Amino acid sequence: ELADTPLVIRDLTKSYPGGLTAVRDLSFRVERGQVLGLLGPNGAGKTTTLRMLMGLIQPTEGDITVFGHTISPGAPVLSRIGSFVEGSGFLPHLSGAENLRLYWAATGRPEEQARMAEALEIAGLGDAVHRRVRTYSQGMRQRLAIAQAMLGLPDLLVLDEPTNGLDPPQIHQMREVLRRYAATGRTVLVSSHLLAEVEQTCSHVVVMHRGALVAAGEVGDLVSANGEATFRVDDT
Ligand code: ATP
Repeated sequence: ELADTPLVIRDLTKSYPGGLTAVRDLSFRVERGQVLGLLGPNGAGKTTTLRMLMGLIQPTEGDITVFGHTISPGAPVLSRIGSFVEGSGFLPHLSGAENLRLYWAATGRPEEQARMAEALEIAGLGDAVHRRVRTYSQGMRQRLAIAQAMLGLPDLLVLDEPTNGLDPPQIHQMREVLRRYAATGRTVLVSSHLLAEVEQTCSHVVVMHRGALVAAGEVGDLVSANGEATFRVDDT
């Protein structure tokens, strides 16, 4: 059953040298087709969690499994995860499509037209993929960066604050991109420090504070009282 689950995080802890514990006893799981928002203020430990998930740093304790395979630096299962790096340095004088082809070639994988076409379709850039990147809005650049993360159609798409710097219409388009991706039966994990954004873009949410999970559930179960996010949490 673990082998069918895109992501299971168990008792995850990360302490940095010097004694700071950035993530503490974190456990949650994500099912296929979910868009899960990792919500928390700056310093809550979201980036540290995502970096462990991407195999960039090692947990101090606990483990992360993707379809039953344990994540560690260099683990083969990392090829099933697509990750997005903000402002991933596109060449402005090349078109979006040309940038993606260059990136794909640089990863050493054979170009797969069908996958690339599907990723571009989901990213929703339309004919703009043939325009030079220097003509793109911030929202379009961000969607191109997500198209890049989606190129291999990874089972798990991991996005660290993809809506940073976007205006509401651009955030709306981002939501459509993430939903279309999850609707293919793949899974999205996205971090944000804004409750409204998670409410708009995600199906599920894990709320972190000072490294620990404080609430988790379906976004529809989020109850907002006095501007504070609270939850009706079942103790299942
Ligand atoms: P942000 O949105 O600001 O990135 P975050 O929720 O992603 O917030 P993290 O970046 O994971 O939070 O940081 C959690 C805590 O760990 C912070 O107090 C941060 O200063 C600390 N931290 C992060 N990286 C390191 C590091 N390499 N060495 C020491 N402490 C670190």
